[in-house]
Amino acid sequence: MSVNHGPPRFTAFSLRQLDELVRRAGLSAQERLAVRAVAEVLPFRVNNYVVDELIDWNRAPDDPIYRLVVPQPDMLPPDDVDELARLIDAGAHPNEIKHVVTKIRASLNPHPGGQLELNVPSDDVDEIPGVQHKYPETVLLFPRQGQTCHAFCTYCFRWPQFVGDVGIKFATGEVSRLVGHIRRNPHVTSVLITGGDPMIMSSAVLARYIEPLLGVEQLESIRIGTKALAYWPHRWVSDPDADTTLRLFESVAAAGKHLAIMGHFSHPRELEPKTVATAVRRIQATGAVIRTQAPLIRTINDDPLVWSRMWRTQHTMGMVPYYMFVERDTGPQAYFEVPLARAYEIFSDAYRCVSGICRTVRGPSMSTTVGKLAIDGVVEINGQRVFVLHLIQARDPALVNRPFFARYDEHAAWVTHLAPVHGLPWLLG
Ligand SMILES: *Cc1c(COP(=O)(O)O)cnc(C)c1O
Ligand code: SF4
Repeated sequence: MSVNHGPPRFTAFSLRQLDELVRRAGLSAQERLAVRAVAEVLPFRVNNYVVDELIDWNRAPDDPIYRLVVPQPDMLPPDDVDELARLIDAGAHPNEIKHVVTKIRASLNPHPGGQLELNVPSDDVDEIPGVQHKYPETVLLFPRQGQTCHAFCTYCFRWPQFVGDVGIKFATGEVSRLVGHIRRNPHVTSVLITGGDPMIMSSAVLARYIEPLLGVEQLESIRIGTKALAYWPHRWVSDPDADTTLRLFESVAAAGKHLAIMGHFSHPRELEPKTVATAVRRIQATGAVIRTQAPLIRTINDDPLVWSRMWRTQHTMGMVPYYMFVERDTGPQAYFEVPLARAYEIFSDAYRCVSGICRTVRGPSMSTTVGKLAIDGVVEINGQRVFVLHLIQARDPALVNRPFFARYDEHAAWVTHLAPVHGLPWLLG
């Protein structure tokens, strides 16, 4: 028997292979047509590592990792899915399908939180595309070559970018404008490189973004937001530029700055493969610290045991749990949302059973137009049930860490569902 011992090669699955995956999961012909319809609206991408190493095919379609990457037949409103499925089934003209797809996408709140209008800084020339500056200390950078991921999460809040809508794009040629912007804003101490997934870029391209930042004295940290530890850990182990990437990471510490890898893990299963442990150790050997974050998603990780197991395993591996997010108000939010009251219970139940050293995590946190809003509890005041909340991060720094209150509502799943309580501090005026 001949076995290929070469390094694992990244292979992305096509839309045609999606049908094979849902067949393998045992879906009916009608459900498979619905999946095809959903995949016309929302982005789909998965690779050989996720399919072969992460998904438990004995448990599909209920398996959480399967649900993390494979579109679900009931993810979008049934009327929309039916309309599209009928067109596809009847072999309608692509333009007719596109028309309906565009209509459905527009109904999914593609630009939540005022991201497009409110956060783009300007210099003396014009707006700097691909840069967002919302909180005084931290600038967000969306490199042009990093606007895709090794696989797409079904719940992705950046989905419009992946279906060709408005690229927020930053080109390497503009790094000097970013550096200029940082120097004009002495409060900026941290740059967060995000996407998509910046680790989709080669080390040579990544270096063109990182190296110019190393000489900026006021910068204390550079962060890289990535899902690659979960979706393609080979990136740091056996990919052709794995070692040059690690040398680049070392250069950040050598320049006297902290490199933080913000690892997105949705489920403890993603931590199990040996390659992940190897990647984590190799990253840590460069002096970088891996912090972890993920949203709380119905049917994927809406269980306190899943979170406590995840935090404990991460902690054991030397990673630092950082954020639990609430699913944002875009795309298939209605399908994946967990009510705030339940999110608070899941967070607390998980937080309670980890050791103090592991309670570095914050949340459940909503990324809203005003800032990162955490639910701190549910209490009764003057016979009325209320939510206690605070802003972890705010566009207006004066609002950071002040408690405020909202009327309790067991179904509320986003800040827009909250209302003030008479006589108690409220967020907006
Ligand atoms: C989360 C976030 C940051 C980083 O916030 P920290 O609290 O420093 O982790 C920066 N900018 C934006 C727009 C964010 O959403
Ligand atoms: S890793 Fe992040 S940006 Fe990429 S698909 Fe998942 S949620 Fe979206």
